[in-house]
Amino acid sequence: ELDTISEKVSKGGNGDDGGGSRILVFVRLRPISRKEREGGARCCVKIVDGRDVYLTEFATETDYLRLKRLRGRHFTFDASFPDTATQHDVYSTTTAELVEAVLQGRNGSVFCYGATGAGKTYTMLGTIENPGVMVLAIKDLFSKIRQRSFDGNHVVHLSYLEVYNETVRDLLSPGRPLVLREDKQGIVAAGLTQYRAYSTDEVMALLQQGNLNRTTEPTRCNETSSRSHAILQVVVEYRVKDSSNNIVNRVGKLSLIDLAGSERALATDQRTQRSLEGANINKSLLALSSCINALVEGKKHIPYRNSKLTQLLKDSLGGACNTVMIANISPSNLSFGETQNTLHWADRAKEIRTKAYDAHEEMQMPDSETDQAKLLLELQKENR
Ligand code: ADP
Ligand code: MG
Repeated sequence: ELDTISEKVSKGGNGDDGGGSRILVFVRLRPISRKEREGGARCCVKIVDGRDVYLTEFATETDYLRLKRLRGRHFTFDASFPDTATQHDVYSTTTAELVEAVLQGRNGSVFCYGATGAGKTYTMLGTIENPGVMVLAIKDLFSKIRQRSFDGNHVVHLSYLEVYNETVRDLLSPGRPLVLREDKQGIVAAGLTQYRAYSTDEVMALLQQGNLNRTTEPTRCNETSSRSHAILQVVVEYRVKDSSNNIVNRVGKLSLIDLAGSERALATDQRTQRSLEGANINKSLLALSSCINALVEGKKHIPYRNSKLTQLLKDSLGGACNTVMIANISPSNLSFGETQNTLHWADRAKEIRTKAYDAHEEMQMPDSETDQAKLLLELQKENR
């Protein structure tokens, strides 16, 4: 019975009947930092009308308007946030609807993608004074639950985990690496902490502490690794009466993902340990790109099995999931190349249409090494 309910719920994801709906892609520009300004950096990004992004090495108004016609320098997204956008602007435009969907038993996911220093962690976690999407989503979730029920019908569990160097770790309870297993619900990290949350107050501290548990760069003390992916999963369970008046459980899951820096996604050098780590991040981000490409092309086989990250996000990428991408970019002309890569990637992600498909069938398919190699070449060409 539970199975049929969750099946129905998952078929209904995104409010379509399998025809597919596009994932939403947003861009957020961060402010130029004092250090950048003092170092003589200039702003090379312009956001117009809350949608259009112009990338230019010349920062005058006439220059960017002239560049409008140049290919590869002008992009349009579902919304683009200028450096003046607040955390709340970003939350309410990108994620608020997913929180509503989760309360209706659907899944949703929000990814932050971009180079190191582009503002991913600021957007996702934020600071005590300016909490980010993770905290605002949980706050909103609790306030919506309070509006709906006073009887503890809704139960909220949080998990916070990291994928680093193709190893999965529990950020709420650091210890030995976690093993991924497949069960009825999909792929799960065995033994992962499911923290039962009762209020918003405790959450910021919990997430800040979790963030401190992220793997740090071996050569730089206390600096969070740019090779670490952090995933917060918010699971909401509640009971409803079905049409025959039986009480059934419903589950909705929101995944909020602070991806590793995208700048090393394609740079590999196999000689040192550091670059081995780079290669492994490469593996997870490449596998993510690979899945996204397969989804864009409407392929039947989506190569989720190629990395830990894509295995964990299997139910958050295709199928019955509302997916949101936030591409974070720096305004500095010194990051021009990275910004352009990020915008190209985001532009491509707009093409993804999520579809209902038979997940179990795909689990059995072998990984395709040649597909990956082909994609790598394509991406390298694109990035040249
Ligand atoms: P990433 O996680 O992508 O490597 P961070 O989120 O750590 O980047 O951002 C780099 C720096 O820029 C941090 O000091 C952060 O506080 C600051 N920053 C990023 N985005 C913003 C923003 N929108 N407003 C103010 N400061 C920001
Ligand atoms: Mg970060």
